[in-house]
Amino acid sequence: MYSEMGLSEKVIALGKEAEQELKARFESIDETAEYNAMKVLHAMQKNRVSEACFAATTGYGYNDLGRETLERVYADVFHTEAALVRIQITCGTHALAIALSAMVRPGDEILSPVGKVYDTLEEVIGIRDSVGSLKEWGVTYNQVELLPDGSFDYEGIRKAIHENTRLIEIQRSKGYLTRKTFSPQEIGELIAFIKGIKPDVICMVDNCYGEFVEKVEPSDFGADMVVGSLIKNPGGGLAPIGGYICGTKACIEACAYRLSAPGLGQEVGANLGILPSFYQGLFLSPTVTASAVKTAIFAARIYEKLGFRVLPDSREPRYDVIQAVTLGSPEALCAFCKGIQSAAPVDSFVTPEPWDMPGYDAPVIMAAGTFVSGSSIELSADGPLKPPYNAYFQGGLTWPHGKFGILKSVQALLDAGVITL
Ligand SMILES: *Cc1c(COP(=O)(O)O)cnc(C)c1O
Repeated sequence: MYSEMGLSEKVIALGKEAEQELKARFESIDETAEYNAMKVLHAMQKNRVSEACFAATTGYGYNDLGRETLERVYADVFHTEAALVRIQITCGTHALAIALSAMVRPGDEILSPVGKVYDTLEEVIGIRDSVGSLKEWGVTYNQVELLPDGSFDYEGIRKAIHENTRLIEIQRSKGYLTRKTFSPQEIGELIAFIKGIKPDVICMVDNCYGEFVEKVEPSDFGADMVVGSLIKNPGGGLAPIGGYICGTKACIEACAYRLSAPGLGQEVGANLGILPSFYQGLFLSPTVTASAVKTAIFAARIYEKLGFRVLPDSREPRYDVIQAVTLGSPEALCAFCKGIQSAAPVDSFVTPEPWDMPGYDAPVIMAAGTFVSGSSIELSADGPLKPPYNAYFQGGLTWPHGKFGILKSVQALLDAGVITL
């Protein structure tokens, strides 16, 4: 099949070799997936998920059994008191915006102790001026940079916490930065330190891309809220929309009032028949996430072998599903993305081209042949066309597809004459 699908003997052999070298790592990823699969299954059984939970509701959506049960399942999976899991949460940024704005009042300050926040949050907070930002409501923001070795600047953080510091925003994944991703344990140490200085401060974790990569989550280590998108890991590739916030009862209540309206809170929000995909996606998420982690490590190994700089490398521990490869030239970056696109189940016949995306200072090339538009737990890649020509990619609903995608990217580089084998 591989040669029929355009892979040369040398690329197939390279893939075989890399896979062989990763056997032990893949076993431990499977073991984590097995544990997390049981964690999800246990929560579903405990909360008596039934066929009645899959019924569509319309209008106000009062007494929605499926929605209420799903939120209890999420709360149990993340070991929190409560959860808000909704089709009305449109994406990860929206979930984060709800969590931030629910918990602060005029005069309060948000602090990021891990350097810059995710790009889209700059406008939510008002770091970049934006209509309706928290800055317009009199909320201030401060950040403490990481130390040069990537660790927390505890002294700087101590100095930055003051009377008005109300909420701490901690981004787990490196996102599109070159810092490292934090483990739930590391985040736990940071939270313990901060709560030691100011016990009533709210610690919120942007958990995007981190769910189910480890057996534990930041909510196991004192986070008041963990927040993420359902078109990433926890949607398991099936959720067509949505976001989640899991946390303390008080936080979730406040978030629900912010999402719907004061006085209404969690009581409204019809499910429109989407819930089967939320349940089934969550059920599949541990193994889907494992496929994405394997794909990322496989890519790291392959591109290391080819002499490219990769971040993280194939041996480092992983706390999210994102992989960066420094390709070094526009030709190589475009060939890489073409290869990923040509491996997709959807739109495999189109050729990605760089374009001037709003908000970016260089043309960006993207590859995504996904069932759910924009879903990044499905194999997808992008990169800005500027030095050092990094490709960032993530996802892979199944290991065979993730592996094939990476091998197709190598084939594309070979065909373009960028590499020789
Ligand atoms: C994807 C992501 C977001 C935003 O999610 P969207 O669904 O794209 O709005 C926020 N933070 C991190 C770390 C992310 O990876």
